[in-house]
Order: sequence, then C-alpha cells, then structure tokens
Amino acid sequence: MLQKKDFRKQAHIVADMIADHLENIEQFRVKPDLQPGDIRSRLPEYAPGNTEAFADILKAYNDIIVPGITQWQHPGFMALFPSNASYESILAEMLVSGLAVNTMNWDTSPAATELEERMLEWLRDICGLPKHWKGVLQDTASIATLTACIAAREKATHFAIQQKGSAGKTLVVYCSDQTHYSIEKAAMSAGIGKENVIKIPTDEKFALRADLLEQQMQKDIADGKLPCMVAATLGTTNSLAFDPLKAIGDICNTYRCWLHVDAAYAGTAFILEEYRHYLDGIELADSYVFNPHKWMMIQFDCSAFYVKDPMHLQKVFSYDPEYLKKQNSAAINYKDWGIPLGRRFRALKIWFVLRSMGIAGLQEKIRGHITLAQSFFNAIKNEPKWEIMAPFAMNVLCIRHVPEAGMRSEQLNAHNKELLQKINADGRFYLSGTTLRGEYVIRVVIGQSYVEEKHVESLIELLLELSASS
Ligand code: PLP
Repeated sequence: MLQKKDFRKQAHIVADMIADHLENIEQFRVKPDLQPGDIRSRLPEYAPGNTEAFADILKAYNDIIVPGITQWQHPGFMALFPSNASYESILAEMLVSGLAVNTMNWDTSPAATELEERMLEWLRDICGLPKHWKGVLQDTASIATLTACIAAREKATHFAIQQKGSAGKTLVVYCSDQTHYSIEKAAMSAGIGKENVIKIPTDEKFALRADLLEQQMQKDIADGKLPCMVAATLGTTNSLAFDPLKAIGDICNTYRCWLHVDAAYAGTAFILEEYRHYLDGIELADSYVFNPHKWMMIQFDCSAFYVKDPMHLQKVFSYDPEYLKKQNSAAINYKDWGIPLGRRFRALKIWFVLRSMGIAGLQEKIRGHITLAQSFFNAIKNEPKWEIMAPFAMNVLCIRHVPEAGMRSEQLNAHNKELLQKINADGRFYLSGTTLRGEYVIRVVIGQSYVEEKHVESLIELLLELSASS
C-alpha cells in the first residue's frame, strides 16, 4: 500500500498526466480501433502476488488503458449525447476522492448533504423550474426515472404494491414512440410490465400526440386498467423533439396520472431564457430529471431529480433500521429519497462549476454550441446531396446522404450505415446513427465542452469528402 510520503509525489504525477492528456487529446482517435478482447488480452490472468511499483502501474495505465478508451472529452465526440467534463469538475472530483465519503444521510456527511440541497436549488432556479420543487442527486436519468415510476406506482395504488405486492389492477405507463428506452426499463423494473408501456404515436415533429394519449387513456380506463405514469420528453434522444408539456399535463391532471418529465440532455438549455417556452406547463409535472453530466460541464455522474411532493417520495423510500436511525429529525436524509443507501458526494462539482463559470459563463458556452450547430446546419442544408431528416433544435442534427435521386429507403439506409462507419474509421470524429420512422440517419451532436469552429469545419470537409467517394 502506498504510504503517506509517497502519495503527495504520485498525486502530482497523476495531476500532470491528466493535464497532459487533456492538452493532447486530439492526438488520440475519438473511438479506438479495437476488437473485443484486445485490452483484456493485455492484462495478466491473475492478480499480482507481490507488490508492484506505482510507477509501473501508471505506465501500464498509459500504455494499455488510455489508448483503449473512447475519448468522451475529445472535441470530435459528437455521438450519442456528450458526457462533458470541465477542469473545475475534474478538480472537484479529485477532492471528493480524497474525502472518500458516503453521503447516505446527514449524520454521515452534513456538509455534503446540505451542499446537495443548496445545489439542487441553484440548478432549479437557473433552469427556470418551479420554485417549490425539491431535488436529489442520482447517478443517472435511468435511476431517476425508475424512482419516479415507483413513486407513481405507489401513488396510483395507494401503496398497495409496496405493502401487499399487488394492486389487483393492470397499471399502464405512457410515453411516445420516440422515448428513451430507460422509460420502458423503469416500468419493467418497477413490476409494471413491458406490455403495459404504451407508446403513443408522434406528429411530424416527432412530438407525442396529446389527443392520442387521451384517447388511449380513456380506453384503458374503460378496460379497467389504471393509468400510472406518463413520461414526457423534453429533447428526445433520436432527434431532440419536445413533447407538448401543457397538453399532456392537463390530461394527467384530469385522469389523476403522474407526469414525469425526462429532460436528460436538453434540460441544460433551459439556462437560456429563449428555450424556456418548452417548459410551458412544467408546473403540472410530478417529477423531472435532467443530467448536468451531459451538457453542463459537470462531469459524470450527476443527474438532478426533482419532485413536486418530497413527502410522498420519502413515504415511498424511507426505511429506518435501528443502525441508521436519525440523530437529528430536522435533517435531510437523501437515502430516503430514492433506492440506494450509499451515495457519492456529487454536489461539490456542481458548486465548483457554477461558481467558477457563473450563470453567464455557462450560458455563453451553451449558446456557443448552438451557434456552431447552426453553422453546421446551414452548411449541410446547402449541400444538394444531403438531407436534414428532422426539425433542427438546439445542437442535434439528423442528416443523411442521398447519392442519387430515386433511391429506395433500404438502399439509402445501407448506404448511410456504411458511410457512418467510414466517418468513424477516420478517427477524428465519432458520430452515431439512429432510425426515424424507418429511415436511417446520421446524428451529429455539437455540444462537447471543447468543440470549436475549426472542428465543425473539418467535420463538414470530411463528410463531403467521404460522401463524394461513396
Ligand atoms: N433520457 C434521455 C432523453 C436520454 O437521452 C438518455 C441518455 O442519453 C437517458 C434518458 C438515460 O440517461 P442515463 O445514462 O443518465 O441513464
């Protein structure tokens, strides 16, 4: 085991390694060119019997691990959604790993608990969310949505499932046909059943059709089923579509159904007043999640989960064995606000980033990404052989290449899948694809912490060059 005297020296070395890595990140491919098993085969089969020099361990890290990493902090990372870091959040995480605390309740971490409470208020207020909401940090949006789904289930069944394991009725969860799969997974994990997740069709903008939601809910009620939760999305994963919150909220109100809002990625953009119109109707929501770890430069993991009624949430998740009895009844115990007992100290990185960048700095960064995406959109829009396949919102573009007029959908799908592989094989960028109503599209997300105009320009050049030769 390293001794105190060694730690300081090694910590300085590690800090330099991190700084060097980030300064030189563009020397790496964004996505390494590897086959499954390539890394594992370079790792010894058995753990070492004897001590190894720390310098050797760091060398192996540099030789084996770093080149085998998909570089999420590379400015060419434009796949999926980003998972952004900033220097501030890295430094906060370094300090947190030094404290190595477990923020299960107030007694085990008073400062971490109270900082978390305050940071959730800051995030709520800077993003224009309702003032009376209370929040808790979770690791991911998937877990926040599962938490919401369980809370909704207990509300709908008056705690029958928690107490007796059955409500005697089929519960139903509603979402759009564009919703992230975490909604379905939450319903499956909460015992509601995959078959009882009803995917409501979307309109031409890929937004949930509220009229069809209401018809479906009425039918289900007539069939003796119990509407449990509607999951609306603000910024779908496929194309960044926004569901009509107000119309959905009114329906939930009428039929007494829980409304959960998934703004995992786009929630960060509500720091900008000009996007707050998407929040119209938000006061009708029962729960809400967004991931500062996606676009807010507050690194993974950090998911902000809000509820309208924190008492209900605690009623669902509180459990007080003797060994965890509270010492102080006035204190918040976040272990009672969700599933895990043990919790990371995530609030410090929020504090560091918000203080260091300020609201204005964050707004400038997000606006900067959106401006870059707009210039990418303008360039592609003017290319005769490229098509924009979904309404363009913020900084996500769904595009495809059409080499010749009149090609069938299957041919275009195969062509664009192949083109995407070529783009990623180049190594400077990592893009991902998806399907929109059966049409394969290439997604470009311009939201990485360190992306600049020159990266967007070289992506355009690469797309044109590779598509011309395909
Ligand atoms: N919801 C949406 C809209 C997403 O895009 C994602 C992931 O990209 C998730 C939920 C799941 O997020 P997490 O990885 O935090 O569970």
